[in-house]
Amino acid sequence: MRQIKSRAFILEKDAQNRDEGRLFLLSEDFGFMWLTAAGLFRPGAKLAISTEPPILVLAEILPTEDFRGGRLTTVTVEKYLEQFKNSYRNRIWFSFFVYLLKNFTGESDAQKYFPLLEEVTFSAEDWSKNHERSNLAIIYFIIKLLHGEGVLPELKDCLGCDSVFSEKESSFYPLGESGLFCSDCFRKINAELVSRGNFSFEYLSLTPLTEEIPHPERDFRVNSEVRNLISEVRKSSDLKTAYAKIFLSSKINGQLILQSRNFLLYFLASLI
Ligand SMILES: [Zn+2]
Repeated sequence: MRQIKSRAFILEKDAQNRDEGRLFLLSEDFGFMWLTAAGLFRPGAKLAISTEPPILVLAEILPTEDFRGGRLTTVTVEKYLEQFKNSYRNRIWFSFFVYLLKNFTGESDAQKYFPLLEEVTFSAEDWSKNHERSNLAIIYFIIKLLHGEGVLPELKDCLGCDSVFSEKESSFYPLGESGLFCSDCFRKINAELVSRGNFSFEYLSLTPLTEEIPHPERDFRVNSEVRNLISEVRKSSDLKTAYAKIFLSSKINGQLILQSRNFLLYFLASLI
C-alpha cells in the first residue's frame, strides 16, 4: 500500500507493549483511523512528544486497505493545543469532545467533523477561560455534531400535530420524548412533564465560534421559564437517572437517533 499524508488530530494514545503503541486519530481526509507505531512511549523521543494528545499533526501513514488502520511512519507537529494540556478542566472538555465523536457519530464519514474540531479547539484560548463561553462552545459542538448526523431535534413545531409555536405559546417537553409538544397534544399523550416553557433555541444556527460569542440571555432569549427548567433538571433524580442511562448506553445502535435527540435536550438544558 502506498504511503499517504494527512493532517490529523491525535485524540488518544495507548501503550500496547514496550514502546509500541496505538493511536486514535481524526484525519482530515480519511476520518477516524487507528494506527500503530513504535517509539510512542520512549522517554525524550521526538515521536513520543509529537504524538501526545491532543495535538494536530501532519501524519505520514502506511494505511490498511480500508484506511481505518495502518502504521504511522512520520509526524510533523502543526499545533500543540496547549490549552487542553495545561488545565484539568480543559482536558476534561477535550475528552468529552472525543467521547461524543466516538459514540455519537458514524465512522464512515467522520472526516466531516475535522473542521468542527479545528474550529472549536483553535478558539479554545478564547472560550476556555470563561465558564459561560465554554458552555456555549460545548453546546455549539453538540448541535453541529447532531446536525451532521441528521438527528438534530426540530424545536420550532409540535411533534404531535406539526403546528408551529408562536412567540407567546408555551411548549411542553415530556420525559422520554425527542421534541416539544403543544398543550393540546401534550394533554393527549398523558406523559410526565419535564418542562413547560418557550424553549426558543434560536441559537441552532449559532454564529461561528471564531466570532464574538454572544451572551446567552441577551442574544438567545433564554427566558426565566427555561431557567426554572434547569433548576428542575438539577433537582430531579429521575432525570439524572435518565441522563446517565442515555449517556452510558450511547454506543451506536438502533437507538442512536432517539438517544441522541433526548441527550441533546437534557444536555442543553443542563448547560444553560
Ligand atoms: Zn400539537
